Order: sequence, then C-alpha cells, then structure tokens
Amino acid sequence: MNWNPTPYPWPDGYRAAACFTVDVDATAPWLWQHRDKIPSGIAALEHRQYGMRQGLARMVAMLDRLNIPGSFFVPGIVAKDNPDLLPGLIERGHEIGLHGFYHEIVSETSDAQFTDALETSIELFVAQTGARPAGFRSPAWEMTPHMLSELRRHGLWDSSLMGHDLPYQIDGVTELPVRWDNDDAIFFKFLGAGDRPPRSEAEICARWTHEARAQIRDGGLFMLTVHDWISGRAARVELLSDLFEPLCADETVWVTTCGEIARHHLSVGGLEVTSQTVTPINERTGHE
Ligand SMILES: [Zn+2]
Repeated sequence: MNWNPTPYPWPDGYRAAACFTVDVDATAPWLWQHRDKIPSGIAALEHRQYGMRQGLARMVAMLDRLNIPGSFFVPGIVAKDNPDLLPGLIERGHEIGLHGFYHEIVSETSDAQFTDALETSIELFVAQTGARPAGFRSPAWEMTPHMLSELRRHGLWDSSLMGHDLPYQIDGVTELPVRWDNDDAIFFKFLGAGDRPPRSEAEICARWTHEARAQIRDGGLFMLTVHDWISGRAARVELLSDLFEPLCADETVWVTTCGEIARHHLSVGGLEVTSQTVTPINERTGHE
C-alpha cells in the first residue's frame, strides 16, 4: 500500500507525458483466428485491409501535421507483407515496436511458440530496418512470467499491462502501462451483426480529453492506443487530431514515444514489482 504517491520526475521541466500509439494489427489477428482453415467469406479480411490501404497513411499524415512522433507496434507478418511499412515509419520519425508474429493470442500459445515468434520478429525487423527494435506490446495485452523473462533477456521494454498509470518495472522489464478504456477497439470495433454499434466520435473525444486533462493535472502519463483499420477512418482521425492538438500546444506536456519514456525511466528508477506466483486458495492452509 502506498499512501504517499510522489510526483513522477518527468525530464526538462515537463509535468506530464502523452503517447500516441498504434497497434498495426491489419490482417494478423484474422490469420491467427483462421490458422487452421481460411473461411470463404472475405468481408472481415477486406475490412482489415483498410488500414494498410488508407487508414494508416491518414493517421501518419495527421501526426506529421501536429509534428509529433507515434509508437507503432507491428506484428511480424504485417511487416513481412508490407516491406515498406517499417522503413517508412522510421523515415517519418516514428518508433516501431514488436507485436507478436501472427498476433498470437497468449492463452493459445506455448512458451516455446512465444519465444520463436519473438525471435523471428526481431530478425525480420533487423533485416528490414538495420536496427533491433527496443520495445514490445503483447497481442490483446496478456502477459506471462515467461514472456517477461524473454523480454528482459532481449533488453526490451513492454507496453501491455495496467498495474499503474506511470512507468514501472516488472520482473526487471520497464513497463509503459496501457488501459482498456484508452483503446479505440472497445468503442469503435464493429464487424457486423452481433457487435455493439460503434460509439460516436464526439462522445469518445470528450471521454479521452477528460482522461488526458486528469493525467496532466496529476503529472501522469496519457497513453492512447488505436488501430490502423479501426481509427484510420476520416472522422476518427479528426477526433485524434482534436484530442492531441491541445496536448501539443501545452508546453508542459511531453508528447513523445514509449521508447523515449522507457529510456528516461531507466535513469530515474521508481516502482519495481515481481509477477509473483499466487497460491490457489484451496492449496493454502487455514487463512494464511
Ligand atoms: Zn493488436
């Protein structure tokens, strides 16, 4: 229990930070979902192709207009199928991070498969960009102690967990925390009958603006996550621009990449936790 939260030591006089992050999922989750058999219907696949054909470029143009860098987490197969993607993002001043090879769902993946997907992705990133990626974000934001141990072995930071709203260390890995309700998918992802209708852009812009203001007031980190094929639509990019314009205009807010914050965090330290193993209640004796 921490009764005395202390202000986070942001650098250069900043009092808060904000990150614009994109999980460039494209077709990878669909390929993983249908890894045994490709269905005959093509609608969901076409929907997911939208990001690479239009949505991502529109988002990148918006970031260029605001002159801010984004952090783009890219599954290996998306980089492989779009060989100009990683070099193009780097050339435009953005950061790239790992996001599985086929966007493997953690509960459906063995430790060995995770390690293989991670190492194959790193090799591909190095081949396409000439540099090792520095960060990782887990598909669907699940993690295991094995995954943390592999990230530590490769010297990677992570951005997948919600144990804080400031940077922290878990199992020796720097964590840049995320949050489900700062993610576009839960509000806008719609794949047809059975899904909830998407929420309005105005409602979600107001919600995220409220969260960003609160984080700035508290000296915290506003971490936004969007997806190429979901938020690349015209009105949603307008929402993102409206959301980030005031953050960019506020000289006390450090609008930067996850990697920059991870590097800064290493120099200041802070909360360190372990992914402790919890004993099931029925294996405990008494009320220990
Ligand atoms: Zn993803």
